[in-house]
Amino acid sequence: MKSEYDILVIGGGPGGALAAWTAAKAGLSACIIEKRPAIGAPVRCAEGIGKELLKEFMEPDPRWISADIQRARIVAPDGTSIALDEGRAGTEVGYVLDRKFFDRELVWKASEAGADVFVKTRAVAPIIEEGRVCGATVEFCGKRCDIRAKVTIAADGVESKFARWCGIDTTLPLREMMSCAQYLVTGIDIDPHSNDFYLGEEVAPQGYLWVFAKGERSANIGVGIPASKSKPGMRAKDYLDRFMKERYPEGRIIECVFGGDPVSRPLSCTVADGLMIVGDAARVVDPITGGGIGNAMITGRMAAEVAAKAIAAGDTSKAALMPYDEGWRSSKMGRTLERNYRVKEYFITLSDEKMNTLARSIEGINFSEITVMALLKEIIKRNPKLLLELKHLK
Ligand code: FAD
Repeated sequence: MKSEYDILVIGGGPGGALAAWTAAKAGLSACIIEKRPAIGAPVRCAEGIGKELLKEFMEPDPRWISADIQRARIVAPDGTSIALDEGRAGTEVGYVLDRKFFDRELVWKASEAGADVFVKTRAVAPIIEEGRVCGATVEFCGKRCDIRAKVTIAADGVESKFARWCGIDTTLPLREMMSCAQYLVTGIDIDPHSNDFYLGEEVAPQGYLWVFAKGERSANIGVGIPASKSKPGMRAKDYLDRFMKERYPEGRIIECVFGGDPVSRPLSCTVADGLMIVGDAARVVDPITGGGIGNAMITGRMAAEVAAKAIAAGDTSKAALMPYDEGWRSSKMGRTLERNYRVKEYFITLSDEKMNTLARSIEGINFSEITVMALLKEIIKRNPKLLLELKHLK
Protein backbone atom coordinates (compact mmCIF):
# COMPACT_ATOMS: atom_id res chain seq x y z
CA MET A 1 0.00 0.00 0.00
CA LYS A 2 1.51 3.34 -1.06
CA SER A 3 1.31 6.12 1.48
CA GLU A 4 0.68 8.99 -0.93
CA TYR A 5 -1.67 9.58 -3.89
CA ASP A 6 -3.06 12.49 -5.85
CA ILE A 7 -6.59 11.27 -5.03
CA LEU A 8 -7.79 9.06 -2.22
CA VAL A 9 -11.36 7.79 -2.63
CA ILE A 10 -13.22 6.48 0.40
CA GLY A 11 -15.86 3.95 -0.63
CA GLY A 12 -16.05 1.52 -3.56
CA GLY A 13 -19.67 2.12 -4.64
CA PRO A 14 -20.62 3.70 -8.01
CA GLY A 15 -19.68 7.22 -6.82
CA GLY A 16 -16.22 6.21 -5.62
CA ALA A 17 -15.56 3.99 -8.64
CA LEU A 18 -16.37 6.77 -11.11
CA ALA A 19 -14.18 9.22 -9.17
CA ALA A 20 -11.19 6.86 -9.20
CA TRP A 21 -11.76 5.74 -12.80
CA THR A 22 -11.97 9.36 -14.02
CA ALA A 23 -8.92 10.39 -11.98
CA ALA A 24 -6.83 7.47 -13.25
CA LYS A 25 -7.87 8.16 -16.86
CA ALA A 26 -6.71 11.76 -16.36
CA GLY A 27 -3.25 10.42 -15.43
CA LEU A 28 -3.53 10.99 -11.67
CA SER A 29 -2.46 8.49 -9.06
CA ALA A 30 -5.65 7.30 -7.37
CA CYS A 31 -6.63 4.81 -4.72
CA ILE A 32 -10.01 3.45 -3.59
CA ILE A 33 -10.44 2.01 -0.13
CA GLU A 34 -13.52 -0.07 0.64
CA LYS A 35 -14.34 -1.25 4.14
CA ARG A 36 -16.25 -4.33 3.00
CA PRO A 37 -14.37 -7.47 1.98
CA ALA A 38 -15.92 -7.49 -1.50
CA ILE A 39 -16.96 -4.76 -3.91
CA GLY A 40 -20.70 -4.82 -4.61
CA ALA A 41 -21.76 -7.13 -1.78
CA PRO A 42 -23.98 -7.23 0.11
CA VAL A 43 -26.33 -5.37 -2.22
CA ARG A 44 -28.43 -2.66 -0.60
CA CYS A 45 -30.40 -1.50 -3.59
CA ALA A 46 -33.42 -2.27 -5.79
CA GLU A 47 -30.96 -1.92 -8.70
CA GLY A 48 -33.12 0.15 -11.07
CA ILE A 49 -31.44 2.61 -13.44
CA GLY A 50 -32.57 4.58 -16.51
CA LYS A 51 -31.20 3.37 -19.84
CA GLU A 52 -30.21 6.83 -21.03
CA LEU A 53 -28.37 7.60 -17.81
CA LEU A 54 -26.45 4.34 -17.83
CA LYS A 55 -25.36 4.77 -21.43
CA GLU A 56 -23.69 8.05 -20.47
CA PHE A 57 -21.10 5.94 -18.68
CA MET A 58 -20.91 2.58 -20.37
CA GLU A 59 -22.60 0.26 -22.82
CA PRO A 60 -25.04 -2.14 -21.15
CA ASP A 61 -23.61 -5.63 -20.69
CA PRO A 62 -25.74 -8.75 -20.06
CA ARG A 63 -23.21 -9.84 -17.40
CA TRP A 64 -24.54 -7.18 -15.02
CA ILE A 65 -28.08 -6.61 -16.27
CA SER A 66 -30.78 -8.72 -14.65
CA ALA A 67 -33.77 -7.36 -16.55
CA ASP A 68 -34.57 -5.09 -19.48
CA ILE A 69 -37.44 -2.94 -18.23
CA GLN A 70 -39.88 -1.76 -20.87
CA ARG A 71 -42.82 -0.75 -18.68
CA ALA A 72 -43.49 0.98 -15.41
CA ARG A 73 -46.76 0.80 -13.53
CA ILE A 74 -47.87 3.08 -10.72
CA VAL A 75 -50.68 1.68 -8.61
CA ALA A 76 -52.74 4.15 -6.57
CA PRO A 77 -54.23 3.16 -3.17
CA ASP A 78 -57.59 2.22 -4.76
CA GLY A 79 -55.88 0.10 -7.42
CA THR A 80 -56.06 2.69 -10.22
CA SER A 81 -53.09 1.85 -12.37
CA ILE A 82 -51.05 4.22 -14.54
CA ALA A 83 -49.09 2.42 -17.21
CA LEU A 84 -46.02 3.86 -18.86
CA ASP A 85 -44.93 1.82 -21.83
CA GLU A 86 -41.70 2.06 -23.82
CA GLY A 87 -43.43 0.85 -26.99
CA ARG A 88 -46.11 3.52 -26.80
CA ALA A 89 -43.94 6.36 -25.53
CA GLY A 90 -41.05 5.81 -27.89
CA THR A 91 -38.60 6.55 -25.07
CA GLU A 92 -36.71 4.00 -23.05
CA VAL A 93 -37.40 2.93 -19.48
CA GLY A 94 -34.50 1.22 -17.77
CA TYR A 95 -32.68 -1.81 -16.49
CA VAL A 96 -32.59 -3.70 -13.26
CA LEU A 97 -28.91 -4.25 -12.65
CA ASP A 98 -27.07 -6.99 -10.85
CA ARG A 99 -25.09 -4.67 -8.62
CA LYS A 100 -22.81 -7.40 -7.32
CA PHE A 101 -21.35 -7.49 -10.83
CA PHE A 102 -22.07 -3.90 -11.85
CA ASP A 103 -20.19 -2.32 -8.93
CA ARG A 104 -17.31 -4.74 -9.49
CA GLU A 105 -17.19 -3.84 -13.17
CA LEU A 106 -16.94 -0.12 -12.32
CA VAL A 107 -14.13 -0.69 -9.82
CA TRP A 108 -12.42 -3.05 -12.25
CA LYS A 109 -12.51 -0.27 -14.86
CA ALA A 110 -10.93 2.13 -12.35
CA SER A 111 -8.28 -0.47 -11.59
CA GLU A 112 -7.63 -1.14 -15.31
CA ALA A 113 -7.12 2.61 -15.77
CA GLY A 114 -4.43 2.49 -13.07
CA ALA A 115 -6.18 3.09 -9.73
CA ASP A 116 -5.15 1.02 -6.70
CA VAL A 117 -7.98 -0.76 -4.89
CA PHE A 118 -7.90 -1.96 -1.28
CA VAL A 119 -10.85 -3.89 0.10
CA LYS A 120 -11.46 -4.62 3.79
CA THR A 121 -9.77 -1.27 4.37
CA ARG A 122 -11.68 1.30 6.38
CA ALA A 123 -11.07 5.02 6.81
CA VAL A 124 -11.11 5.62 10.56
CA ALA A 125 -10.14 9.31 10.70
CA PRO A 126 -9.21 12.15 8.38
CA ILE A 127 -5.70 13.61 8.39
CA ILE A 128 -6.26 17.31 8.94
CA GLU A 129 -3.37 19.76 8.89
CA GLU A 130 -3.82 23.52 9.27
CA GLY A 131 -7.53 23.13 8.57
CA ARG A 132 -7.18 21.17 5.32
CA VAL A 133 -7.89 17.51 4.66
CA CYS A 134 -4.67 15.73 3.62
CA GLY A 135 -5.87 12.09 3.46
CA ALA A 136 -7.06 9.50 5.94
CA THR A 137 -5.90 7.11 8.59
CA VAL A 138 -7.03 3.67 7.46
CA GLU A 139 -7.35 0.31 9.12
CA PHE A 140 -6.62 -2.97 7.36
CA CYS A 141 -6.80 -6.25 9.31
CA GLY A 142 -6.31 -4.49 12.61
CA LYS A 143 -3.32 -2.45 11.37
CA ARG A 144 -3.45 1.31 10.99
CA CYS A 145 -1.57 3.50 8.54
CA ASP A 146 -1.88 6.92 6.94
CA ILE A 147 -2.67 7.51 3.27
CA ARG A 148 -1.96 11.09 2.26
CA ALA A 149 -3.60 12.72 -0.77
CA LYS A 150 -3.85 16.08 -2.48
CA VAL A 151 -7.61 15.57 -2.65
CA THR A 152 -9.70 13.12 -0.62
CA ILE A 153 -13.09 12.16 -2.07
CA ALA A 154 -15.70 10.99 0.44
CA ALA A 155 -17.84 8.45 -1.43
CA ASP A 156 -18.77 6.52 1.69
CA GLY A 157 -22.49 6.31 0.98
CA VAL A 158 -25.55 6.84 3.10
CA GLU A 159 -23.78 5.91 6.34
CA SER A 160 -21.06 8.49 5.51
CA LYS A 161 -19.02 9.60 8.48
CA PHE A 162 -15.93 10.96 6.78
CA ALA A 163 -17.35 14.38 5.89
CA ARG A 164 -18.70 14.77 9.44
CA TRP A 165 -15.28 13.93 10.87
CA CYS A 166 -13.95 16.77 8.67
CA GLY A 167 -16.38 19.22 10.30
CA ILE A 168 -19.16 19.25 7.66
CA ASP A 169 -22.73 19.25 8.97
CA THR A 170 -24.26 16.05 7.57
CA THR A 171 -27.22 15.84 9.97
CA LEU A 172 -30.24 14.18 8.41
CA PRO A 173 -33.65 14.39 10.09
CA LEU A 174 -35.30 10.98 10.56
CA ARG A 175 -38.24 12.06 8.40
CA GLU A 176 -35.82 12.47 5.48
CA MET A 177 -34.18 9.09 5.84
CA MET A 178 -36.18 6.33 4.20
CA SER A 179 -36.05 3.12 6.13
CA CYS A 180 -36.06 0.30 3.56
CA ALA A 181 -36.64 -3.44 3.61
CA GLN A 182 -36.36 -5.56 0.50
CA TYR A 183 -36.49 -9.24 -0.43
CA LEU A 184 -35.15 -10.85 -3.56
CA VAL A 185 -38.05 -13.18 -4.27
CA THR A 186 -38.14 -16.05 -6.69
CA GLY A 187 -40.83 -18.45 -7.95
CA ILE A 188 -43.46 -15.74 -8.53
CA ASP A 189 -45.62 -14.74 -11.48
CA ILE A 190 -44.54 -11.27 -12.57
CA ASP A 191 -44.18 -9.31 -15.77
CA PRO A 192 -40.40 -9.72 -16.34
CA HIS A 193 -40.18 -6.40 -18.17
CA SER A 194 -42.08 -4.18 -15.72
CA ASN A 195 -41.19 -2.19 -12.64
CA ASP A 196 -44.23 -1.58 -10.45
CA PHE A 197 -44.71 1.05 -7.76
CA TYR A 198 -47.51 0.82 -5.15
CA LEU A 199 -48.67 3.86 -3.20
CA GLY A 200 -50.86 4.43 -0.16
CA GLU A 201 -51.15 4.44 3.62
CA GLU A 202 -51.76 0.67 3.72
CA VAL A 203 -48.70 -0.36 1.70
CA ALA A 204 -46.09 2.34 2.41
CA PRO A 205 -47.10 5.58 4.17
CA GLN A 206 -45.21 8.57 2.72
CA GLY A 207 -43.12 6.20 0.65
CA TYR A 208 -43.74 3.43 -1.82
CA LEU A 209 -43.54 -0.29 -2.34
CA TRP A 210 -41.69 -1.56 -5.37
CA VAL A 211 -41.69 -4.76 -7.42
CA PHE A 212 -38.69 -4.59 -9.74
CA ALA A 213 -38.34 -7.54 -12.11
CA LYS A 214 -35.07 -9.44 -11.74
CA GLY A 215 -35.74 -12.04 -14.41
CA GLU A 216 -38.51 -14.37 -15.54
CA ARG A 217 -39.89 -15.33 -12.11
CA SER A 218 -37.89 -13.20 -9.70
CA ALA A 219 -38.13 -9.65 -8.39
CA ASN A 220 -36.69 -7.21 -5.88
CA ILE A 221 -39.73 -6.46 -3.72
CA GLY A 222 -39.25 -3.74 -1.15
CA VAL A 223 -40.76 -0.97 0.92
CA GLY A 224 -39.38 2.42 1.91
CA ILE A 225 -41.03 4.59 4.56
CA PRO A 226 -39.67 7.59 6.51
CA ALA A 227 -37.61 6.35 9.48
CA SER A 228 -39.68 8.71 11.67
CA LYS A 229 -42.78 6.58 10.90
CA SER A 230 -41.12 3.29 11.81
CA LYS A 231 -42.87 1.81 14.87
CA PRO A 232 -43.56 -1.69 16.20
CA GLY A 233 -45.81 -3.43 13.66
CA MET A 234 -45.36 -0.53 11.24
CA ARG A 235 -41.73 -0.99 10.20
CA ALA A 236 -40.78 -1.24 6.54
CA LYS A 237 -40.35 -5.00 7.04
CA ASP A 238 -43.88 -5.30 8.52
CA TYR A 239 -45.42 -3.60 5.45
CA LEU A 240 -43.33 -5.80 3.19
CA ASP A 241 -44.31 -9.01 5.00
CA ARG A 242 -48.00 -8.09 4.82
CA PHE A 243 -47.73 -7.41 1.07
CA MET A 244 -45.84 -10.65 0.48
CA LYS A 245 -48.41 -12.68 2.39
CA GLU A 246 -51.27 -11.16 0.43
CA ARG A 247 -49.75 -10.99 -3.07
CA TYR A 248 -46.96 -13.52 -3.31
CA PRO A 249 -47.49 -16.17 -0.61
CA GLU A 250 -45.79 -18.69 -2.91
CA GLY A 251 -42.64 -16.54 -3.24
CA ARG A 252 -39.32 -17.83 -1.94
CA ILE A 253 -37.08 -15.24 -0.34
CA ILE A 254 -33.44 -15.77 -1.27
CA GLU A 255 -31.97 -12.49 -0.06
CA CYS A 256 -32.92 -9.79 2.49
CA VAL A 257 -31.79 -6.18 2.28
CA PHE A 258 -32.21 -3.55 4.97
CA GLY A 259 -30.87 -0.05 4.54
CA GLY A 260 -31.43 3.67 4.49
CA ASP A 261 -31.96 5.99 1.58
CA PRO A 262 -31.71 9.77 2.07
CA VAL A 263 -34.53 11.85 0.52
CA SER A 264 -33.39 15.21 1.81
CA ARG A 265 -31.94 18.16 -0.06
CA PRO A 266 -28.25 17.66 -0.86
CA LEU A 267 -25.60 18.88 1.60
CA SER A 268 -25.37 22.66 1.55
CA CYS A 269 -21.71 22.47 0.52
CA THR A 270 -19.88 19.45 -0.92
CA VAL A 271 -16.30 20.73 -0.83
CA ALA A 272 -13.77 21.87 1.77
CA ASP A 273 -10.01 22.39 1.64
CA GLY A 274 -8.66 19.13 0.17
CA LEU A 275 -12.07 17.39 0.39
CA MET A 276 -14.91 16.59 -2.02
CA ILE A 277 -18.12 14.69 -1.23
CA VAL A 278 -20.01 12.62 -3.81
CA GLY A 279 -23.00 10.30 -4.19
CA ASP A 280 -25.16 9.35 -1.21
CA ALA A 281 -22.60 10.94 1.12
CA ALA A 282 -23.47 14.27 -0.56
CA ARG A 283 -27.19 13.29 -0.41
CA VAL A 284 -27.66 13.61 -4.16
CA VAL A 285 -30.43 11.00 -4.18
CA ASP A 286 -33.64 11.67 -6.08
CA PRO A 287 -36.11 12.56 -3.29
CA ILE A 288 -39.09 11.08 -5.15
CA THR A 289 -37.71 7.77 -6.37
CA GLY A 290 -34.85 7.29 -3.90
CA GLY A 291 -32.65 6.52 -6.93
CA GLY A 292 -29.00 7.43 -6.42
CA ILE A 293 -26.83 5.14 -8.57
CA GLY A 294 -26.73 7.48 -11.57
CA ASN A 295 -26.27 10.64 -9.49
CA ALA A 296 -23.43 9.01 -7.55
CA MET A 297 -21.72 8.28 -10.88
CA ILE A 298 -22.34 11.80 -12.19
CA THR A 299 -20.95 13.47 -9.06
CA GLY A 300 -18.03 11.00 -8.80
CA ARG A 301 -16.96 11.79 -12.35
CA MET A 302 -17.47 15.53 -11.97
CA ALA A 303 -15.52 15.66 -8.70
CA ALA A 304 -12.50 13.91 -10.24
CA GLU A 305 -12.56 16.19 -13.28
CA VAL A 306 -12.47 19.29 -11.08
CA ALA A 307 -9.86 17.73 -8.77
CA ALA A 308 -7.61 16.98 -11.77
CA LYS A 309 -7.69 20.65 -12.82
CA ALA A 310 -7.08 21.85 -9.25
CA ILE A 311 -4.13 19.47 -8.80
CA ALA A 312 -2.64 20.58 -12.13
CA ALA A 313 -2.90 24.19 -10.98
CA GLY A 314 -1.30 23.31 -7.62
CA ASP A 315 -4.29 24.59 -5.62
CA THR A 316 -6.71 22.18 -3.92
CA SER A 317 -8.28 24.71 -1.58
CA LYS A 318 -12.06 24.87 -1.07
CA ALA A 319 -12.22 27.79 -3.54
CA ALA A 320 -10.35 25.78 -6.20
CA LEU A 321 -12.67 22.75 -5.71
CA MET A 322 -15.83 24.91 -5.66
CA PRO A 323 -16.50 24.52 -9.43
CA TYR A 324 -17.53 20.94 -8.57
CA ASP A 325 -20.16 22.09 -6.08
CA GLU A 326 -21.42 24.82 -8.39
CA GLY A 327 -21.23 22.52 -11.41
CA TRP A 328 -23.49 19.74 -10.19
CA ARG A 329 -25.91 22.15 -8.49
CA SER A 330 -26.51 24.09 -11.73
CA SER A 331 -26.58 20.92 -13.89
CA LYS A 332 -29.75 19.17 -15.02
CA MET A 333 -29.22 16.71 -12.15
CA GLY A 334 -28.98 19.51 -9.55
CA ARG A 335 -32.06 21.28 -10.85
CA THR A 336 -34.03 18.02 -10.94
CA LEU A 337 -33.04 17.25 -7.34
CA GLU A 338 -34.36 20.62 -6.15
CA ARG A 339 -37.61 20.31 -8.12
CA ASN A 340 -38.21 16.74 -7.03
CA TYR A 341 -37.53 17.63 -3.40
CA ARG A 342 -40.34 20.19 -3.54
CA VAL A 343 -42.65 17.77 -5.30
CA LYS A 344 -41.88 15.05 -2.76
CA GLU A 345 -42.62 17.42 0.12
CA TYR A 346 -46.01 18.06 -1.45
CA PHE A 347 -46.83 14.45 -2.29
CA ILE A 348 -46.17 13.18 1.22
CA THR A 349 -48.98 15.44 2.47
CA LEU A 350 -51.57 13.83 0.16
CA SER A 351 -54.31 11.62 1.51
CA ASP A 352 -55.11 8.33 -0.21
CA GLU A 353 -58.29 9.91 -1.64
CA LYS A 354 -56.37 12.76 -3.21
CA MET A 355 -53.82 10.34 -4.67
CA ASN A 356 -56.65 8.28 -6.14
CA THR A 357 -58.17 11.41 -7.71
CA LEU A 358 -54.86 12.45 -9.25
CA ALA A 359 -54.19 8.93 -10.53
CA ARG A 360 -57.66 8.67 -12.06
CA SER A 361 -57.12 12.02 -13.80
CA ILE A 362 -54.23 10.58 -15.84
CA GLU A 363 -55.37 6.98 -16.13
CA GLY A 364 -55.18 5.65 -19.70
CA ILE A 365 -53.03 8.48 -21.05
CA ASN A 366 -50.39 7.65 -23.65
CA PHE A 367 -47.25 9.24 -22.29
CA SER A 368 -44.78 10.43 -24.87
CA GLU A 369 -41.96 10.35 -22.32
CA ILE A 370 -41.38 8.12 -19.32
CA THR A 371 -40.08 10.48 -16.67
CA VAL A 372 -41.25 11.93 -13.36
CA MET A 373 -41.48 15.30 -15.15
CA ALA A 374 -43.76 13.93 -17.88
CA LEU A 375 -46.07 12.43 -15.24
CA LEU A 376 -46.09 15.65 -13.28
CA LYS A 377 -46.88 17.75 -16.34
CA GLU A 378 -49.91 15.59 -17.15
CA ILE A 379 -51.13 15.66 -13.54
CA ILE A 380 -50.81 19.48 -13.45
CA LYS A 381 -52.51 19.85 -16.84
CA ARG A 382 -55.54 18.02 -15.49
CA ASN A 383 -55.36 19.46 -11.96
CA PRO A 384 -54.14 23.06 -12.48
CA LYS A 385 -54.71 24.00 -8.82
CA LEU A 386 -51.76 21.74 -8.01
CA LEU A 387 -49.36 24.21 -9.55
CA LEU A 388 -50.38 26.82 -6.99
CA GLU A 389 -50.02 24.34 -4.14
CA LEU A 390 -46.54 23.34 -5.38
CA LYS A 391 -45.45 26.97 -5.75
CA HIS A 392 -46.03 27.57 -2.06
CA LEU A 393 -43.45 24.96 -1.16
CA LYS A 394 -40.10 26.37 -0.16
P1 FAD B 1 -22.64 3.29 -1.90
O1 FAD B 1 -23.03 2.48 -3.07
O2 FAD B 1 -23.39 3.12 -0.63
O3 FAD B 1 -21.10 3.01 -1.64
C1 FAD B 1 -20.45 3.53 -0.50
C2 FAD B 1 -19.36 2.56 -0.10
O4 FAD B 1 -18.53 3.15 0.90
C3 FAD B 1 -19.90 1.27 0.51
O5 FAD B 1 -19.44 0.17 -0.23
C4 FAD B 1 -19.38 1.28 1.95
O6 FAD B 1 -19.06 0.00 2.42
C5 FAD B 1 -18.13 2.15 1.80
N1 FAD B 1 -17.70 2.80 3.05
C6 FAD B 1 -18.49 3.42 3.97
N2 FAD B 1 -17.73 3.91 4.98
C7 FAD B 1 -16.44 3.60 4.67
C8 FAD B 1 -15.19 3.82 5.33
N3 FAD B 1 -15.13 4.48 6.51
N4 FAD B 1 -14.05 3.35 4.77
C9 FAD B 1 -14.09 2.67 3.59
N5 FAD B 1 -15.27 2.42 2.92
C10 FAD B 1 -16.41 2.88 3.46
N6 FAD B 1 -30.74 3.74 -6.31
C11 FAD B 1 -31.07 3.62 -7.60
O7 FAD B 1 -30.56 4.37 -8.47
N7 FAD B 1 -32.00 2.70 -8.00
C12 FAD B 1 -32.62 1.87 -7.12
O8 FAD B 1 -33.43 1.03 -7.53
C13 FAD B 1 -32.29 2.00 -5.74
N8 FAD B 1 -32.87 1.21 -4.82
C14 FAD B 1 -32.48 1.29 -3.51
C15 FAD B 1 -33.07 0.41 -2.59
C16 FAD B 1 -32.66 0.42 -1.27
C17 FAD B 1 -33.29 -0.55 -0.30
C18 FAD B 1 -31.66 1.35 -0.85
C19 FAD B 1 -31.20 1.36 0.59
C20 FAD B 1 -31.09 2.23 -1.75
C21 FAD B 1 -31.48 2.20 -3.09
N9 FAD B 1 -30.92 3.05 -4.06
C22 FAD B 1 -31.30 2.95 -5.36
C23 FAD B 1 -29.88 4.01 -3.71
C24 FAD B 1 -28.51 3.52 -4.17
O9 FAD B 1 -28.24 2.25 -3.62
C25 FAD B 1 -27.44 4.53 -3.77
O10 FAD B 1 -27.86 5.83 -4.13
C26 FAD B 1 -26.09 4.26 -4.42
O11 FAD B 1 -25.56 3.01 -4.04
C27 FAD B 1 -25.11 5.37 -4.02
O12 FAD B 1 -23.81 5.10 -4.46
P2 FAD B 1 -22.58 5.63 -3.60
O13 FAD B 1 -21.35 5.23 -4.34
O14 FAD B 1 -22.77 7.05 -3.25
O15 FAD B 1 -22.66 4.86 -2.21
